[in-house]
Amino acid sequence: MEPRQSYNKVFELLETHQKWFASSLPLIASENIPSPAVREAILSDFGNRYAEGWPGERVYAGCKYIDQVEQICMDLAKQLFRVDFADVRPISGVCANLVAYTTFTTPGDTMLALAIPAGGHISMGKKEFGGTAGSVRGLQVEYFPFDTEEMNIDIDATEKKIQKLSEEGKKPTLAMLGGSVLPFPHPVKQLADTFQEHETRICFDAAHVAGLVAGSQFQDPLHEGADAMTASTHKTLPGPQGGLILSKPEHGEKIKKSTFPGNVSNHHLHHLAGKAVMFAEMHAFGKEYAAQIVKNSRALAAALHERGFQVLGEKKGFTRSHLLVADITKFGDGKTIEKKLEDANIILNRNLLPYDIKAGRHFEAPGGIRCGVSEVTRLGMKESEMMEIADFMTRIVIKGEDSRKVATDVADFRRDYQKVHYAFETSKDAYTYIHIR
Ligand SMILES: *Cc1c(COP(=O)(O)O)cnc(C)c1O
Repeated sequence: MEPRQSYNKVFELLETHQKWFASSLPLIASENIPSPAVREAILSDFGNRYAEGWPGERVYAGCKYIDQVEQICMDLAKQLFRVDFADVRPISGVCANLVAYTTFTTPGDTMLALAIPAGGHISMGKKEFGGTAGSVRGLQVEYFPFDTEEMNIDIDATEKKIQKLSEEGKKPTLAMLGGSVLPFPHPVKQLADTFQEHETRICFDAAHVAGLVAGSQFQDPLHEGADAMTASTHKTLPGPQGGLILSKPEHGEKIKKSTFPGNVSNHHLHHLAGKAVMFAEMHAFGKEYAAQIVKNSRALAAALHERGFQVLGEKKGFTRSHLLVADITKFGDGKTIEKKLEDANIILNRNLLPYDIKAGRHFEAPGGIRCGVSEVTRLGMKESEMMEIADFMTRIVIKGEDSRKVATDVADFRRDYQKVHYAFETSKDAYTYIHIR
Protein backbone atom coordinates (compact mmCIF):
# COMPACT_ATOMS: atom_id res chain seq x y z
CA MET A 1 0.00 0.00 0.00
CA GLU A 2 1.08 3.57 -0.70
CA PRO A 3 1.57 5.64 2.48
CA ARG A 4 -1.53 7.66 1.68
CA GLN A 5 -3.55 4.47 1.19
CA SER A 6 -2.33 3.05 4.51
CA TYR A 7 -3.16 6.36 6.14
CA ASN A 8 -6.69 6.31 4.73
CA LYS A 9 -7.07 2.65 5.59
CA VAL A 10 -6.30 3.31 9.26
CA PHE A 11 -9.11 5.87 9.49
CA GLU A 12 -11.48 3.62 7.62
CA LEU A 13 -10.77 0.80 10.09
CA LEU A 14 -11.21 3.08 13.08
CA GLU A 15 -14.63 4.19 11.90
CA THR A 16 -15.70 0.68 10.99
CA HIS A 17 -14.63 -0.56 14.41
CA GLN A 18 -16.73 2.09 16.15
CA LYS A 19 -19.78 1.29 14.03
CA TRP A 20 -19.36 -2.38 14.89
CA PHE A 21 -19.20 -1.67 18.62
CA ALA A 22 -22.25 0.59 18.37
CA SER A 23 -24.24 -2.38 17.09
CA SER A 24 -22.78 -5.09 19.34
CA LEU A 25 -23.08 -6.32 22.89
CA PRO A 26 -19.75 -5.41 24.50
CA LEU A 27 -19.43 -7.86 27.42
CA ILE A 28 -15.67 -7.97 28.00
CA ALA A 29 -15.34 -7.66 31.77
CA SER A 30 -12.20 -5.51 31.63
CA GLU A 31 -13.69 -2.96 29.24
CA ASN A 32 -16.05 -0.02 29.45
CA ILE A 33 -17.13 3.03 27.49
CA PRO A 34 -16.05 6.42 28.83
CA SER A 35 -18.39 9.39 28.64
CA PRO A 36 -18.09 11.89 25.76
CA ALA A 37 -16.68 14.30 28.39
CA VAL A 38 -13.81 11.90 29.14
CA ARG A 39 -13.20 11.44 25.42
CA GLU A 40 -12.98 15.22 24.98
CA ALA A 41 -10.45 15.50 27.81
CA ILE A 42 -8.21 12.84 26.29
CA LEU A 43 -8.12 14.64 22.94
CA SER A 44 -6.66 17.74 24.60
CA ASP A 45 -3.09 19.09 24.30
CA PHE A 46 -2.25 17.55 27.68
CA GLY A 47 -1.46 14.44 25.67
CA ASN A 48 1.52 16.15 24.08
CA ARG A 49 3.23 17.34 27.28
CA TYR A 50 5.59 16.14 29.98
CA ALA A 51 5.22 16.63 33.72
CA GLU A 52 7.59 14.29 35.53
CA GLY A 53 7.29 14.37 39.29
CA TRP A 54 4.56 15.64 41.62
CA PRO A 55 2.44 18.81 41.25
CA GLY A 56 4.59 21.74 42.37
CA GLU A 57 7.76 19.62 42.18
CA ARG A 58 8.05 19.15 38.42
CA VAL A 59 11.12 18.48 36.35
CA TYR A 60 9.58 20.40 33.39
CA ALA A 61 8.22 23.88 32.72
CA GLY A 62 4.79 24.43 31.18
CA CYS A 63 2.90 22.58 33.89
CA LYS A 64 0.90 25.30 35.66
CA TYR A 65 -2.49 24.08 34.38
CA ILE A 66 -1.48 20.44 34.40
CA ASP A 67 -0.58 20.77 38.10
CA GLN A 68 -4.05 22.07 38.90
CA VAL A 69 -5.76 19.25 37.03
CA GLU A 70 -3.56 16.66 38.71
CA GLN A 71 -4.36 18.13 42.13
CA ILE A 72 -8.09 18.02 41.36
CA CYS A 73 -7.69 14.44 40.13
CA MET A 74 -5.90 13.36 43.34
CA ASP A 75 -8.40 15.13 45.60
CA LEU A 76 -11.35 13.52 43.81
CA ALA A 77 -9.72 10.08 44.00
CA LYS A 78 -9.04 10.43 47.73
CA GLN A 79 -12.61 11.51 48.47
CA LEU A 80 -14.10 8.86 46.23
CA PHE A 81 -12.21 6.04 47.93
CA ARG A 82 -12.34 7.65 51.39
CA VAL A 83 -8.55 7.59 51.86
CA ASP A 84 -5.74 10.08 52.53
CA PHE A 85 -3.27 9.11 49.85
CA ALA A 86 -3.75 8.64 46.10
CA ASP A 87 -1.19 8.51 43.31
CA VAL A 88 -2.99 8.91 39.98
CA ARG A 89 0.13 8.67 37.82
CA PRO A 90 0.56 4.93 37.12
CA ILE A 91 -0.26 4.57 33.44
CA SER A 92 -1.98 1.18 33.75
CA GLY A 93 -3.03 -1.45 36.22
CA VAL A 94 0.14 -3.45 35.61
CA CYS A 95 2.17 -0.28 36.20
CA ALA A 96 0.27 0.31 39.48
CA ASN A 97 1.11 -3.25 40.56
CA LEU A 98 4.78 -2.63 39.75
CA VAL A 99 4.60 0.47 41.93
CA ALA A 100 3.19 -1.69 44.74
CA TYR A 101 5.93 -4.32 44.27
CA THR A 102 8.58 -1.60 44.26
CA THR A 103 7.13 -0.13 47.47
CA PHE A 104 6.59 -3.29 49.48
CA THR A 105 9.10 -5.87 48.24
CA THR A 106 12.74 -6.55 47.40
CA PRO A 107 13.68 -8.90 44.55
CA GLY A 108 13.84 -12.46 45.84
CA ASP A 109 10.98 -11.94 48.33
CA THR A 110 8.00 -14.25 48.45
CA MET A 111 4.57 -12.93 47.45
CA LEU A 112 1.21 -14.62 47.83
CA ALA A 113 -1.29 -14.24 44.97
CA LEU A 114 -3.96 -16.19 43.15
CA ALA A 115 -2.98 -18.53 40.32
CA ILE A 116 -4.31 -17.42 36.93
CA PRO A 117 -6.92 -20.20 36.55
CA ALA A 118 -8.25 -19.19 39.98
CA GLY A 119 -8.60 -15.56 38.87
CA GLY A 120 -5.10 -14.18 39.31
CA HIS A 121 -3.63 -11.81 36.71
CA ILE A 122 -0.44 -12.22 34.68
CA SER A 123 1.01 -9.20 36.52
CA MET A 124 1.00 -11.36 39.70
CA GLY A 125 2.46 -14.33 37.86
CA LYS A 126 5.52 -16.50 38.37
CA LYS A 127 8.72 -16.07 36.39
CA GLU A 128 8.25 -19.41 34.60
CA PHE A 129 5.05 -18.06 33.00
CA GLY A 130 6.56 -14.68 32.20
CA GLY A 131 4.48 -13.02 34.91
CA THR A 132 5.39 -9.46 35.90
CA ALA A 133 5.93 -10.24 39.60
CA GLY A 134 8.35 -13.07 38.83
CA SER A 135 10.11 -11.93 35.71
CA VAL A 136 10.24 -8.15 36.26
CA ARG A 137 10.42 -7.79 40.05
CA GLY A 138 12.07 -11.18 40.73
CA LEU A 139 9.47 -12.26 43.29
CA GLN A 140 8.86 -15.87 44.27
CA VAL A 141 5.13 -16.26 43.81
CA GLU A 142 3.23 -18.68 46.04
CA TYR A 143 -0.45 -19.31 45.39
CA PHE A 144 -3.37 -18.75 47.70
CA PRO A 145 -5.26 -22.01 48.30
CA PHE A 146 -8.55 -21.66 46.40
CA ASP A 147 -12.00 -23.14 47.04
CA THR A 148 -13.79 -23.71 43.73
CA GLU A 149 -17.25 -24.17 45.24
CA GLU A 150 -16.98 -20.91 47.11
CA MET A 151 -15.07 -19.31 44.18
CA ASN A 152 -12.86 -17.70 46.79
CA ILE A 153 -9.59 -17.90 48.74
CA ASP A 154 -9.64 -20.71 51.32
CA ILE A 155 -9.04 -18.86 54.62
CA ASP A 156 -8.00 -21.81 56.84
CA ALA A 157 -5.69 -23.28 54.24
CA THR A 158 -4.13 -19.83 53.67
CA GLU A 159 -3.39 -19.40 57.38
CA LYS A 160 -1.68 -22.79 57.40
CA LYS A 161 0.25 -21.98 54.24
CA ILE A 162 1.62 -18.71 55.66
CA GLN A 163 2.71 -20.54 58.81
CA LYS A 164 4.42 -23.21 56.76
CA LEU A 165 6.14 -20.71 54.46
CA SER A 166 7.40 -18.83 57.53
CA GLU A 167 8.81 -22.01 59.03
CA GLU A 168 10.60 -22.73 55.76
CA GLY A 169 12.14 -19.24 55.77
CA LYS A 170 9.92 -18.08 52.89
CA LYS A 171 7.73 -15.68 54.82
CA PRO A 172 5.72 -13.65 52.29
CA THR A 173 6.48 -9.93 52.45
CA LEU A 174 3.44 -9.12 50.32
CA ALA A 175 -0.01 -10.64 49.93
CA MET A 176 -1.65 -9.59 46.68
CA LEU A 177 -5.39 -10.08 46.86
CA GLY A 178 -7.93 -9.27 44.18
CA GLY A 179 -7.86 -10.57 40.64
CA SER A 180 -9.33 -10.73 37.17
CA VAL A 181 -12.13 -13.13 38.04
CA LEU A 182 -13.52 -11.72 41.26
CA PRO A 183 -17.19 -12.58 41.63
CA PHE A 184 -17.10 -12.40 45.44
CA PRO A 185 -15.27 -10.17 47.94
CA HIS A 186 -11.91 -11.52 49.08
CA PRO A 187 -11.31 -12.22 52.79
CA VAL A 188 -9.12 -9.18 53.48
CA LYS A 189 -10.62 -8.56 56.92
CA GLN A 190 -10.54 -12.24 57.87
CA LEU A 191 -6.85 -12.59 56.97
CA ALA A 192 -5.61 -9.14 58.07
CA ASP A 193 -4.48 -10.26 61.55
CA THR A 194 -2.63 -13.29 60.23
CA PHE A 195 -0.81 -11.14 57.68
CA GLN A 196 0.04 -8.59 60.33
CA GLU A 197 1.48 -11.26 62.65
CA HIS A 198 3.85 -12.29 59.88
CA GLU A 199 4.62 -8.69 58.85
CA THR A 200 3.13 -9.36 55.44
CA ARG A 201 1.91 -6.22 53.68
CA ILE A 202 -1.49 -6.43 52.03
CA CYS A 203 -2.21 -5.00 48.60
CA PHE A 204 -5.60 -5.44 46.97
CA ASP A 205 -5.63 -5.44 43.18
CA ALA A 206 -8.94 -3.77 42.36
CA ALA A 207 -8.21 -3.46 38.62
CA HIS A 208 -11.63 -4.90 37.88
CA VAL A 209 -13.75 -3.84 40.83
CA ALA A 210 -12.52 -0.32 41.64
CA GLY A 211 -15.75 1.23 40.30
CA LEU A 212 -17.78 -1.01 42.58
CA VAL A 213 -15.55 -0.16 45.55
CA ALA A 214 -15.98 3.55 44.77
CA GLY A 215 -19.75 3.13 44.56
CA SER A 216 -19.81 1.20 47.89
CA GLN A 217 -21.19 -1.94 46.22
CA PHE A 218 -18.36 -4.36 46.90
CA GLN A 219 -15.81 -4.70 49.70
CA ASP A 220 -13.72 -1.73 50.82
CA PRO A 221 -10.20 -3.21 51.08
CA LEU A 222 -8.45 -0.12 52.49
CA HIS A 223 -10.89 -0.07 55.40
CA GLU A 224 -10.61 -3.81 55.97
CA GLY A 225 -6.87 -3.80 56.65
CA ALA A 226 -5.18 -3.49 53.24
CA ASP A 227 -2.07 -1.30 53.12
CA ALA A 228 -2.66 -0.34 49.50
CA MET A 229 -5.05 -0.83 46.63
CA THR A 230 -4.12 -0.76 42.95
CA ALA A 231 -6.55 -0.34 40.07
CA SER A 232 -7.08 0.18 36.40
CA THR A 233 -9.18 3.25 35.60
CA HIS A 234 -11.12 1.73 32.68
CA LYS A 235 -12.76 -1.50 33.84
CA THR A 236 -15.63 -0.87 36.24
CA LEU A 237 -14.25 2.63 36.66
CA PRO A 238 -15.41 4.19 33.39
CA GLY A 239 -12.36 6.29 32.64
CA PRO A 240 -9.60 6.39 30.07
CA GLN A 241 -7.13 3.50 30.09
CA GLY A 242 -4.81 4.05 33.03
CA GLY A 243 -3.88 3.08 36.57
CA LEU A 244 -4.14 4.25 40.15
CA ILE A 245 -2.72 3.40 43.56
CA LEU A 246 -4.25 4.33 46.91
CA SER A 247 -2.83 3.60 50.33
CA LYS A 248 -2.69 4.27 54.02
CA PRO A 249 -0.94 7.64 54.46
CA GLU A 250 2.22 6.14 56.00
CA HIS A 251 3.12 4.50 52.67
CA GLY A 252 2.57 7.68 50.63
CA GLU A 253 6.13 8.98 50.41
CA LYS A 254 7.50 5.60 49.38
CA ILE A 255 4.78 5.10 46.78
CA LYS A 256 5.45 8.55 45.29
CA LYS A 257 9.08 7.56 44.69
CA SER A 258 8.17 4.11 43.42
CA THR A 259 5.94 5.72 40.79
CA PHE A 260 8.43 8.40 39.75
CA PRO A 261 11.29 7.85 39.09
CA GLY A 262 10.65 4.14 39.64
CA ASN A 263 8.01 3.15 37.14
CA VAL A 264 6.92 6.11 35.02
CA SER A 265 8.54 9.08 33.36
CA ASN A 266 5.73 10.68 31.35
CA HIS A 267 2.43 9.84 33.01
CA HIS A 268 0.08 10.37 30.04
CA LEU A 269 -1.42 13.70 31.02
CA HIS A 270 -4.41 13.55 28.67
CA HIS A 271 -5.49 10.39 30.48
CA LEU A 272 -4.82 12.11 33.78
CA ALA A 273 -7.36 14.79 32.76
CA GLY A 274 -9.76 12.04 31.68
CA LYS A 275 -9.36 10.35 35.06
CA ALA A 276 -10.26 13.61 36.83
CA VAL A 277 -13.44 13.97 34.74
CA MET A 278 -14.37 10.33 35.39
CA PHE A 279 -13.78 10.67 39.16
CA ALA A 280 -16.12 13.71 39.20
CA GLU A 281 -18.76 11.67 37.35
CA MET A 282 -18.29 8.82 39.81
CA HIS A 283 -18.83 11.18 42.74
CA ALA A 284 -22.17 12.22 41.29
CA PHE A 285 -23.41 8.97 39.75
CA GLY A 286 -21.14 6.19 41.02
CA LYS A 287 -23.42 4.71 43.62
CA GLU A 288 -26.38 4.34 41.31
CA TYR A 289 -24.17 3.07 38.47
CA ALA A 290 -22.36 0.48 40.60
CA ALA A 291 -25.60 -0.74 42.18
CA GLN A 292 -27.13 -1.28 38.72
CA ILE A 293 -24.02 -3.16 37.56
CA VAL A 294 -24.34 -5.66 40.40
CA LYS A 295 -28.11 -6.07 39.82
CA ASN A 296 -27.43 -6.63 36.13
CA SER A 297 -24.69 -9.23 36.56
CA ARG A 298 -26.80 -11.17 39.04
CA ALA A 299 -29.78 -10.99 36.67
CA LEU A 300 -27.67 -12.13 33.72
CA ALA A 301 -26.15 -14.99 35.74
CA ALA A 302 -29.57 -16.21 36.90
CA ALA A 303 -31.02 -15.91 33.39
CA LEU A 304 -28.13 -17.87 31.86
CA HIS A 305 -28.43 -20.53 34.56
CA GLU A 306 -32.17 -20.90 33.87
CA ARG A 307 -31.45 -21.34 30.18
CA GLY A 308 -28.97 -24.19 30.77
CA PHE A 309 -25.59 -22.50 31.22
CA GLN A 310 -23.43 -23.77 34.06
CA VAL A 311 -22.58 -20.49 35.78
CA LEU A 312 -19.92 -20.92 38.49
CA GLY A 313 -20.51 -19.88 42.10
CA GLU A 314 -24.09 -21.16 42.14
CA LYS A 315 -23.83 -21.89 45.85
CA LYS A 316 -23.19 -18.19 46.51
CA GLY A 317 -25.70 -16.75 44.04
CA PHE A 318 -23.23 -16.66 41.09
CA THR A 319 -21.78 -13.19 41.58
CA ARG A 320 -21.64 -10.02 43.68
CA SER A 321 -19.54 -8.07 41.19
CA HIS A 322 -19.79 -6.99 37.54
CA LEU A 323 -18.84 -10.35 36.06
CA LEU A 324 -19.71 -14.01 35.86
CA VAL A 325 -17.92 -17.10 34.60
CA ALA A 326 -19.68 -20.04 32.96
CA ASP A 327 -18.39 -23.54 32.25
CA ILE A 328 -19.31 -24.18 28.60
CA THR A 329 -17.61 -27.57 28.18
CA LYS A 330 -21.00 -29.19 27.45
CA PHE A 331 -21.34 -27.05 24.33
CA GLY A 332 -17.78 -26.78 22.99
CA ASP A 333 -14.51 -25.13 23.90
CA GLY A 334 -13.99 -21.53 24.92
CA LYS A 335 -12.15 -20.57 21.75
CA THR A 336 -14.81 -21.81 19.32
CA ILE A 337 -17.66 -20.38 21.36
CA GLU A 338 -15.96 -17.01 21.75
CA LYS A 339 -15.65 -16.83 17.94
CA LYS A 340 -19.27 -17.86 17.27
CA LEU A 341 -20.47 -15.23 19.73
CA GLU A 342 -18.23 -12.62 18.15
CA ASP A 343 -19.70 -13.44 14.73
CA ALA A 344 -23.09 -12.76 16.34
CA ASN A 345 -21.91 -9.32 17.60
CA ILE A 346 -21.66 -10.61 21.17
CA ILE A 347 -18.18 -9.70 22.32
CA LEU A 348 -16.83 -11.49 25.38
CA ASN A 349 -13.78 -13.56 26.21
CA ARG A 350 -12.92 -17.17 26.82
CA ASN A 351 -11.55 -17.85 30.28
CA LEU A 352 -9.72 -20.55 32.19
CA LEU A 353 -11.82 -22.26 34.85
CA PRO A 354 -10.24 -22.97 38.25
CA TYR A 355 -10.11 -26.72 37.39
CA ASP A 356 -9.11 -26.40 33.71
CA ILE A 357 -5.41 -27.15 34.11
CA LYS A 358 -6.16 -30.35 36.05
CA ALA A 359 -8.63 -31.31 33.33
CA GLY A 360 -5.89 -30.90 30.71
CA ARG A 361 -7.30 -27.71 29.18
CA HIS A 362 -5.20 -24.61 28.53
CA PHE A 363 -5.77 -20.91 27.88
CA GLU A 364 -6.03 -21.27 24.09
CA ALA A 365 -9.16 -23.40 24.37
CA PRO A 366 -10.30 -23.19 27.98
CA GLY A 367 -13.56 -24.50 29.42
CA GLY A 368 -15.10 -21.17 30.32
CA ILE A 369 -16.37 -17.84 29.15
CA ARG A 370 -16.35 -14.62 31.18
CA CYS A 371 -19.03 -11.93 30.86
CA GLY A 372 -18.99 -8.44 32.34
CA VAL A 373 -21.89 -6.01 32.33
CA SER A 374 -20.21 -2.63 33.04
CA GLU A 375 -20.45 -1.31 29.50
CA VAL A 376 -24.01 -2.44 28.78
CA THR A 377 -25.03 -0.96 32.13
CA ARG A 378 -23.56 2.40 31.13
CA LEU A 379 -25.62 2.20 27.95
CA GLY A 380 -28.73 2.19 30.13
CA MET A 381 -29.55 -1.51 30.24
CA LYS A 382 -31.30 -2.95 33.27
CA GLU A 383 -32.42 -6.38 34.47
CA SER A 384 -34.99 -6.94 31.70
CA GLU A 385 -32.35 -6.32 29.03
CA MET A 386 -30.17 -8.97 30.72
CA MET A 387 -32.89 -11.54 29.89
CA GLU A 388 -32.62 -10.54 26.23
CA ILE A 389 -28.83 -10.83 26.31
CA ALA A 390 -29.17 -14.29 27.87
CA ASP A 391 -31.58 -15.22 25.04
CA PHE A 392 -29.11 -14.09 22.38
CA MET A 393 -26.30 -16.09 24.02
CA THR A 394 -28.54 -19.15 24.33
CA ARG A 395 -29.36 -19.03 20.61
CA ILE A 396 -25.66 -19.25 19.79
CA VAL A 397 -24.18 -21.43 22.51
CA ILE A 398 -26.99 -23.88 23.26
CA LYS A 399 -29.26 -23.87 20.22
CA GLY A 400 -26.45 -23.51 17.68
CA GLU A 401 -28.32 -20.94 15.55
CA ASP A 402 -26.60 -19.23 12.65
CA SER A 403 -24.43 -16.37 13.93
CA ARG A 404 -25.38 -13.99 11.09
CA LYS A 405 -29.08 -14.13 11.94
CA VAL A 406 -28.38 -13.44 15.61
CA ALA A 407 -25.97 -10.62 14.67
CA THR A 408 -28.79 -8.81 12.85
CA ASP A 409 -31.09 -9.19 15.83
CA VAL A 410 -28.39 -7.97 18.22
CA ALA A 411 -27.82 -4.88 16.07
CA ASP A 412 -31.58 -4.17 16.07
CA PHE A 413 -31.70 -4.57 19.84
CA ARG A 414 -28.73 -2.23 20.31
CA ARG A 415 -30.38 0.62 18.39
CA ASP A 416 -32.16 1.90 21.50
CA TYR A 417 -29.01 1.97 23.65
CA GLN A 418 -26.66 4.52 22.16
CA LYS A 419 -26.09 7.04 24.96
CA VAL A 420 -23.81 6.88 27.96
CA HIS A 421 -25.74 7.15 31.22
CA TYR A 422 -24.41 8.08 34.69
CA ALA A 423 -22.61 11.18 33.34
CA PHE A 424 -23.16 14.97 33.52
CA GLU A 425 -23.63 15.27 29.76
CA THR A 426 -25.63 12.55 28.09
CA SER A 427 -26.79 13.98 24.79
CA LYS A 428 -24.02 12.67 22.49
CA ASP A 429 -23.92 9.10 21.23
CA ALA A 430 -21.46 6.86 23.03
CA TYR A 431 -19.58 5.55 19.99
CA THR A 432 -19.63 8.62 17.74
CA TYR A 433 -16.44 8.86 15.75
CA ILE A 434 -14.85 12.25 16.36
CA HIS A 435 -13.40 13.95 13.24
CA ILE A 436 -10.83 16.70 13.75
CA ARG A 437 -8.73 16.18 10.65
C1 LIG B 1 -6.61 -5.93 34.05
C2 LIG B 1 -5.85 -6.28 35.24
C3 LIG B 1 -4.62 -5.69 35.51
C4 LIG B 1 -3.89 -4.89 34.48
O1 LIG B 1 -4.43 -3.73 34.19
P1 LIG B 1 -3.99 -2.90 32.90
O2 LIG B 1 -4.63 -1.60 33.17
O3 LIG B 1 -4.50 -3.66 31.73
O4 LIG B 1 -2.50 -2.83 32.90
C5 LIG B 1 -4.01 -5.94 36.71
N1 LIG B 1 -4.58 -6.75 37.60
C6 LIG B 1 -5.75 -7.36 37.38
C7 LIG B 1 -6.32 -8.22 38.44
C8 LIG B 1 -6.42 -7.15 36.18
O5 LIG B 1 -7.55 -7.79 35.93
